[in-house]
Amino acid sequence: MARIVQKFGGTSVADLDCIRNVARRVKTEVDAGHEVAVVVSAMSGATNQLVDWASDIGSLHDAREYDTVVATGEQVTVGLLAIALQNIGIDARSWLGWQIPIRSDNVHGAARIDSIDGWAIHDRLKNGQVAVIAGFQGIGPDSRITTFGRGGSDTSAVAVAAALQADRCDIYTDVEGVFTTDPRIAPKAKKLSRITFEEMLEMASSGAKVLQTRSVAMAMRHNVNLQVRSSFNDITGTLVVNEDSVVEQETISGIAYSPDEAKITIIGLPDKPGIAAGVFGALADQQVNVDMIVQSASSATKKTDISFSVGRDDLKKAVDIINKIETDLEFESVDASPNVAKISVVGTAMRTQPGVAKTMFETLASKGVNMHVISTSEIKISVLIDSEYTELAVRSLHTAYGLDNDS
Ligand code: ADP
Ligand code: ASP
Ligand code: MG
Repeated sequence: MARIVQKFGGTSVADLDCIRNVARRVKTEVDAGHEVAVVVSAMSGATNQLVDWASDIGSLHDAREYDTVVATGEQVTVGLLAIALQNIGIDARSWLGWQIPIRSDNVHGAARIDSIDGWAIHDRLKNGQVAVIAGFQGIGPDSRITTFGRGGSDTSAVAVAAALQADRCDIYTDVEGVFTTDPRIAPKAKKLSRITFEEMLEMASSGAKVLQTRSVAMAMRHNVNLQVRSSFNDITGTLVVNEDSVVEQETISGIAYSPDEAKITIIGLPDKPGIAAGVFGALADQQVNVDMIVQSASSATKKTDISFSVGRDDLKKAVDIINKIETDLEFESVDASPNVAKISVVGTAMRTQPGVAKTMFETLASKGVNMHVISTSEIKISVLIDSEYTELAVRSLHTAYGLDNDS
């Protein structure tokens, strides 16, 4: 007998038939004698609708009320799944974040889980009851409802698995596992049987939304046995594992893309110490996250340009901040582009194998794709390109690194 956490994403609970399908999958594990906790997302599209309502109702944004609204999608699906389970003879009850409780900090919209009191659920599981837990939501220090950022049910599931010391955490979704790239834009993508936590972390943070980045970091920290698989068939999925359990490694394990980027270039800054600190300090003070940065100075003019990327949602805010510090920084102009995407190649073996960057740059050049900003980490190279080339770049790189599934 094992203790299992099953997480079902939005497309897996998209309508009543899908929820009945989920109930059957839960029953299979219960019938096999396992203790089961299920974490569910809202029906697909529901959270988008709630986010739109919360922003369209008025110009004032109260993040606490935003969370009160957007957390409701999961309340619907936990209740429905509990009823569906009861209808097929399974003892089940629903749990909202505050009822467990899943305690978080008070960063509404992107809260971090501090602790989960697993005792009440632990006792019910021992007595054969299935716990149906609302993903994405918790309760803050001031007893207000919080949410964990888009895709946050993955993190709820991993956190519940860690708190309940589950033997497995299975993430059920609309694809059969983690692929070498998003199978929706590259039909030749291959399913990986295993991926290391480190690579998955880089893939997720570079845009592969199959797992929320925080869920991977948490699984890595708590050694959670994590698998991604399909809700719609029984094919074995992808195991997310420690590096030492992967015997042989391709140079590149995957290509990720993030379409929601924007680029800002500040032109004609004085080339002297403290300028970059002034720019990025001002942005950080206002909670604007900067990702990639490139600076090009000219010794002839003693001027420098700085280009950097931010999330597209932060573009206007970032430009306003830069314009406010214009007199202090004495730059010539600022240029903003919302139509850029970040393409990343990821692979642990990059550490030891030269030529990875060369292949990337040559491939993009051969397709006429211009790179605006480049950044690297030990196991990742990312470039910023014009959005219109996203699919072309992903597919060409996929082929260039020998990742295509030709079967
Ligand atoms: P859920 O609603 O189940 O949480 P998501 O939409 O959040 O599902 O994540 C699954 C989606 O992630 C897939 O439909 C796929 O388009 C996308 N995706 C992006 N990159 C990858 C990848 N490398 N492997 C698998 N899926 C990926
Ligand atoms: N329903 C939330 C969202 O759409 C959480 C999740 O699906 O993981 O972001
Ligand atoms: Mg998701």
